[in-house]
Amino acid sequence: MKITAIETYVCHARMRNWIFVKVLTDQPGLWGWGEATLEWHTRSVVGAIEDLSQLLIGEDPRRIEHLWQMMYRQHFWHGNGIVRGTAISGIDIALWDIAGKIHGVPTHELWGGRVRDYIRLYCHLGGGKMEDFYQTRPDDASRFGELAKQAVEDGFTAFKSMAVPETMPLEGLKPIHYAEACVSAMREAVGNDIDIMVDCHARPSPRMGMQFAKALEPYGLYFFEEPCWPESIEDIALIQRAVSTPIASGERLVTIHAFRELFEKRAVSVIQPDITHCGGLSEVRRIAAMAEAYRIAIAPHNPQGPVSTAASIEFGFATPGYIICESVHNDVPWRSEVVSEGFTVEKAGRIVRPNTRPGLGIEINEKEVKKHPFQQEVLQRTFYKDGSVGDW
Ligand SMILES: [Mg+2]
Repeated sequence: MKITAIETYVCHARMRNWIFVKVLTDQPGLWGWGEATLEWHTRSVVGAIEDLSQLLIGEDPRRIEHLWQMMYRQHFWHGNGIVRGTAISGIDIALWDIAGKIHGVPTHELWGGRVRDYIRLYCHLGGGKMEDFYQTRPDDASRFGELAKQAVEDGFTAFKSMAVPETMPLEGLKPIHYAEACVSAMREAVGNDIDIMVDCHARPSPRMGMQFAKALEPYGLYFFEEPCWPESIEDIALIQRAVSTPIASGERLVTIHAFRELFEKRAVSVIQPDITHCGGLSEVRRIAAMAEAYRIAIAPHNPQGPVSTAASIEFGFATPGYIICESVHNDVPWRSEVVSEGFTVEKAGRIVRPNTRPGLGIEINEKEVKKHPFQQEVLQRTFYKDGSVGDW
């Protein structure tokens, strides 16, 4: 059995261009789907996949680990940067789809079978509508409350918000009070039985991140995400030691080597590997094994397209430390026309029942994808009041 071609399909989905990866084989009707979406780097990733394909064409797609080692280690440069890491991930996910199809079982069956009956999903405020999640003003606490109520009405038992405003490396009380008011409004709107998460998008400096974490401690967040740059792992660890709120991070990290540092420094209680960036399903399973040794929970980052979701779900059904999966359902109205999925989502509680089809259980409708060709992603640039560059 041989890989004959690796194709990419770019599908513009408003905030992102989804990059679907199709690995074809010499067996009629046997191919695999992966995803390598990296917003604002679409052309680079498509090029990186083309560069990697020269290593893989003619190789046996069943030798997933061998091919992963080639993609990561060959031609001198290691695949630990975000662009090549994403390209490797997209191809690796497609290879695991092929493996499930060869054996006629869902991919999670290849990893020892189901470890749970269902997976809980959480949403973004607004369900993935860019304006609701990213542009609700921090001084509009009541809007945070309304959107929180809407998430619960949509069936979710957990949701994430960006209730921490952009701040310069040091600012006074105002942004802290904004964050408190927003989280308080959400808690009041949904009560204590719903899980609330706050994503800082790694905007704060370590000191501002610490102040936000302490101010929000009384609201019992399910987790508090990226309180400062992922480059500052020591500082993330200091914040985790200062509060009992679980701290989460990891969506920008590529490979087990980056995650090892998070574990060794006891920096977080929740890791958020992105299966389309960290090295694919092969690498996320290694990361999960290491997380197991530290008893750290796993909640994959998954705001992209439908292959990323299918891969995140397959991984979750075979991974004990997995607690919840990120999801978006309102990003584009035609999302369900691009994909057919093998798993089912129950609206009450937004829980996912397992895929029963071979592989990832999905098929991408190439005709639908072609209706949404590449467009430059909406630019999301941030400058502080004084004109200096900030973090979005
Ligand atoms: Mg995040």
